[in-house]
Amino acid sequence: MIKKIFEQIQKAKKILIITHVNPDGDTLGCACALKSYLKDKADILLEVSDGRKYPEIYSFMPYLDDALTLDNVKNIYDTVVCVDVASYDRIVEKAREIFDSAKVTINIDHHKTNKGYAMYNYVLGGFSSAGEVLYEMFESMGIELSSEMASCLYVSILTDTGCFKYETVTPRTFEIASNLAKLGVDCAKIARNCYDLKSKAMVMFQAHCLSKCEFICNDKIAYTLIKKSDLEKFGAKDEHTEGISEAIRSIRPVEFACVLKESGVSSTKVSLRSKEKDVTKVVQKFGGGGHIRAAGCTIKKPLKEALDLLLAEIKKYL
Ligand code: AMP
Ligand code: MN
Ligand code: MN
Repeated sequence: MIKKIFEQIQKAKKILIITHVNPDGDTLGCACALKSYLKDKADILLEVSDGRKYPEIYSFMPYLDDALTLDNVKNIYDTVVCVDVASYDRIVEKAREIFDSAKVTINIDHHKTNKGYAMYNYVLGGFSSAGEVLYEMFESMGIELSSEMASCLYVSILTDTGCFKYETVTPRTFEIASNLAKLGVDCAKIARNCYDLKSKAMVMFQAHCLSKCEFICNDKIAYTLIKKSDLEKFGAKDEHTEGISEAIRSIRPVEFACVLKESGVSSTKVSLRSKEKDVTKVVQKFGGGGHIRAAGCTIKKPLKEALDLLLAEIKKYL
């Protein structure tokens, strides 16, 4: 499959690299690594959310400022490559038209819930990151990585493993990280950029969300509800909710950490984390997906109703 995918990439005239909605370090890292390899032959497409193309902490990465958005993307692509996109509906909405009309579609991912929605799918479910999958693809094709490509892949792996903390990290993950470091990646600088340069608004907003956290079922379930007005009060952006669910999970007795964010008139975005339980089971009930201990979904209900539905589902797995 890897060979077939690279054959298609070689044959392609113009490639669109599609990232997932609410882009994170993994999808951005893969997109930039691919762009760095393909140069002018490829463009990156990003969703604009809250007036921004990508979370501000990733502004140190190459190519993102020149990335296309739905406003200026033209349907001129014969081939599209989705990176870290777990499902068809995680493709930025209007971009699905481009995906549907492309001659060749490729899906490179690591989500176990990925059903293989493209013509060519290379999905290694359970791998640490799409970045690790992409590294394996480059290596098996004998493609030499530049230090720029290596740095982008390092961002993918670092951020999607929570700094090499999760069970998805294998000896091979460390071996890859070591290989990337040997190619000149400045690991300390990337870690600082990703974790230690948060805006004041983000940290203060997150402190507020944590202080509003509710604990139920002997503190096994903890949740916080985020209204649009909470964001406004702190001048925070959508992207600033990243990391809250992990902070809640880090509290010792908490097994299920939930962040529910108002995302439309009658729509709630759910972010779910666990220590041991399989949260994909919970979110699949609502059409979501993700990983065993980190998953998400959107429930088409207002905040409070979504909370009731979610808690009822979680309690089945307590
Ligand atoms: P989040 O809580 O948004 O950080 O998402 C946690 C993980 O679940 C990420 O790997 C997402 O890619 C995945 N995920 C979130 N929402 C969905 C969804 N609606 N469908 C499939 N996967 C999702
Ligand atoms: Mn992702
Ligand atoms: Mn990922």
